[in-house]
Amino acid sequence: MAVWFSKQARHNFASTGAFWPTIRLCSRGMQSLPQPQTPEPLVEGCPVVELYDDPRDIENILRVLYDPVLFISPKQSSFAMVVSLVRMGRKYEFDKLWIVGLLVLLEAGIPMTLAEYDGLRDASYELGFTDKHPGLYIDILNLLREHNILAFLPSVYYIVIQKYSVQQLFDGVPRGDGTTAVLTTQDLRQCMLSRDKIRRAQFQPGYALSWLSPTPLDTIGGAPSCLAFRSRNMPAYATTSALCLLDPELSDNVHKMLRRNGLCSTCCDEARAVQKAGRQKGWEDLPSFFDLAPWSELAFELKIIMGGPREEGMEWDFL
Ligand SMILES: [Zn+2]
Repeated sequence: MAVWFSKQARHNFASTGAFWPTIRLCSRGMQSLPQPQTPEPLVEGCPVVELYDDPRDIENILRVLYDPVLFISPKQSSFAMVVSLVRMGRKYEFDKLWIVGLLVLLEAGIPMTLAEYDGLRDASYELGFTDKHPGLYIDILNLLREHNILAFLPSVYYIVIQKYSVQQLFDGVPRGDGTTAVLTTQDLRQCMLSRDKIRRAQFQPGYALSWLSPTPLDTIGGAPSCLAFRSRNMPAYATTSALCLLDPELSDNVHKMLRRNGLCSTCCDEARAVQKAGRQKGWEDLPSFFDLAPWSELAFELKIIMGGPREEGMEWDFL
């Protein structure tokens, strides 16, 4: 890729959004652009290529090219920059550029492990971007879907259905600048179906809330107070819409509270162990709740995108 521009052209470009003839971009992707029927005039010896991209994307790409220092500290990057890197990188086949976009997304805190998810939840889902707005996760989801970047989807989907109310999922979330971040019809459907699936699954054996279900011990020789506790609490939990699949491990305070509310010491310890194993299982199964491939495949796909070796005979349809 080569770029020439004069100060005046850059100023005009930034202020009008027009693509100025003194900027010349060359990439593999550009060879597919329609060629003019009649020769265009040369400007400063350079042929003209007209682009129809969002002026903000062009401006961001120029900023990256002329100020790579931007990425010495990725956490100082904006999500708008990530969008430009991915969108322009994919469109014009600047592979390295859109991979940088993905790296910035990772650096900003999109979780790929349960521990990373815990850290992000503890930070109130605040990502390391300089531009923050209430609908950011919907924008991230839309970017990932638009460009078929699957590896980040499980955690982003879960945060979207965890963080936003059903009304917000349907109506969108104002960004604060007069515009609204809105889910696509396809993702709205996915979010609603997956939300319902997770809400029911979290009580199933092996998942985080399964310790609330009566155990065989409750009815055969267990403490009556344990059965009473579960009979009292299970219906209450079951009717809430809360998603507890990946909730934090039960703390000492919760342990004490359970004891005070009638659960025997053995059941409290059991509840802790079951919940801890359950949230891990919830994370491992997370992609399946959104009809995605397992983590191992998603991670492998990401590795391929990032430049890792491609296994012989394997095809990845988004590459
Ligand atoms: Zn008990």
